Amino acid sequence: MSTRIEPGTDLRLDPRSYWLEQALAADPGAPCPPLQGKARADVCIIGGGFAGLWTAYELGEREPSLDIALIEADVCGAGGSGANGGFLSSSWHSIVSLCRLFGEDEGVRYARALAAQIDEVGRWCARHDADIELHAEGAAFARAGDWEPEPDREPIELLARHGLGDRLRVLTAAEVRAFADSPQFRGGTFIEDVATVQPAKLARELRRVLLERGVRIYEGTPLTGLCTGIPVHVHTPSGRIECDQAVVATGAWAASAPPFRRAFAVAVDSVVITEPVPEILAEIGWVSSIGFGDDREAFYYLRRTHDGRVAIGGGSLGIAYGGRIDGRAGEATSRAITSSAGAAVASEGLLWLFPQLRGVRFTHAWTGPMDMTPAMVPFFMSAPDQTVHAGLGFSGHGLTATKVGGKTLASLVLRADDEWSSLPVVGPPLSAVPPEPLRWPLVKLLASTIETSELAQQRGGRATLRGRLAAAAFERYSGTIKGPAA
Ligand SMILES: Cc1cc2nc3c(=O)[nH]c(=O)nc-3n(C[C@H](O)[C@H](O)[C@H](O)COP(=O)(O)OP(=O)(O)OC[C@H]3O[C@@H](n4cnc5c(N)ncnc54)[C@H](O)[C@@H]3O)c2cc1C
Repeated sequence: MSTRIEPGTDLRLDPRSYWLEQALAADPGAPCPPLQGKARADVCIIGGGFAGLWTAYELGEREPSLDIALIEADVCGAGGSGANGGFLSSSWHSIVSLCRLFGEDEGVRYARALAAQIDEVGRWCARHDADIELHAEGAAFARAGDWEPEPDREPIELLARHGLGDRLRVLTAAEVRAFADSPQFRGGTFIEDVATVQPAKLARELRRVLLERGVRIYEGTPLTGLCTGIPVHVHTPSGRIECDQAVVATGAWAASAPPFRRAFAVAVDSVVITEPVPEILAEIGWVSSIGFGDDREAFYYLRRTHDGRVAIGGGSLGIAYGGRIDGRAGEATSRAITSSAGAAVASEGLLWLFPQLRGVRFTHAWTGPMDMTPAMVPFFMSAPDQTVHAGLGFSGHGLTATKVGGKTLASLVLRADDEWSSLPVVGPPLSAVPPEPLRWPLVKLLASTIETSELAQQRGGRATLRGRLAAAAFERYSGTIKGPAA
């Protein structure tokens, strides 16, 4: 696809993200045919996104003799892990809400664990000779437009109390514009401990490393039934795995499983990517690989790629009714997944932020599902008999949270009482989403009212009263959710 971007352009969605297409074209690992017949494993991991892949990796690190199998319905990286914006990000900017949820000490402990993963991924790449286009240069959250809020100083003050005052700093307009000269940038915040990566390459390199370590990966192998007990039976269309323990890491797809029906809503985010435009980027001084976000509720996130393209996502979210995203991403049945409306909003956002890009072409547009908990933090839980574990609800922040999640799930499997199994995110979800048929209209109404109001301001109009009320209602509601330690 190659579409000239003009506001309102009808973008055709690609079945796979640009990242995954690129990663699969030069795949570093051996083929992984579907499971046929019966197999046995100590641990069976269900889902080949970052959560499943990091769990398999951590288990192998800690117990090299463990016999691990992993089943994936499509190909590893086909879910959100191969479709995201590629922001491997600390949560310093969300520190106030983490502390509200978990109490200050536990909130800071969790945020420190997340931030530490950026360097860890760098070391992992060096150790395994993995090229994932990692650039650990930080991110600028810009105030784009006079109507966006002034940078919030509360997180900076909170971090300073814990000796972390240098992890966030306020930027002037000139400082943000020095990173990339958008006429909309009015100032912002710089966040340390953020890297950009080519996410599908990370997924496929993880798969390669696991294969080299003897993990048996079955792609094209969806879970069709899970029978708990000893052993656990993992059923698939052409075979079955008997195992001592299983780990459910199917991301947004878990929404249809009874234990998780009220655990999260499935939001759908869209990303678009331009043709290579290195000369224009050089003209506007966009030469670094830092990530950008803007500070509105329905925020845009954008970054450049190795070959001088710009990828932008956000600005709007679709909602899948009842979390139904059956089938693989490109074949999904939910209208939220197959709608290009979000891609059009993202493309409009890019032209608004950088009018210098007017006239460039988009080569790819895609959507991906996200498992969004009301508190925007994941949860990790085990069945009462400790044979089945789940790590879900990564809520659009899964690049670092799944890396911590892999350590946490490995600790739950190994029954280790340690820094990972004691994190405040271990336990059931902090709050339930409303049941259908209430959830879809409620979330849709809230999200689209906020987005419409913000888009109106972006287009030079005013915030709507309904938009302001919806944003306030959302803030108020999320402020009421508390974790056990808070
Ligand atoms: C457009 C978009 C942009 C995003 N941007 C960012 C970002 O910049 N930074 C960030 O931190 N996070 C971002 N996220 C979120 C991040 O991608 C996710 O939080 C993370 O990838 C979740 O990983 P996961 O392994 O839990 O899920 P997934 O990657 O979705 O993996 C789940 C896997 O399970 C498989 N599966 C499903 N059903 C079955 C079954 N029955 N049997 C076997 N396998 C099954 C799926 O095919 C899939 O491969 C974004 C997400 C999207 C969609």
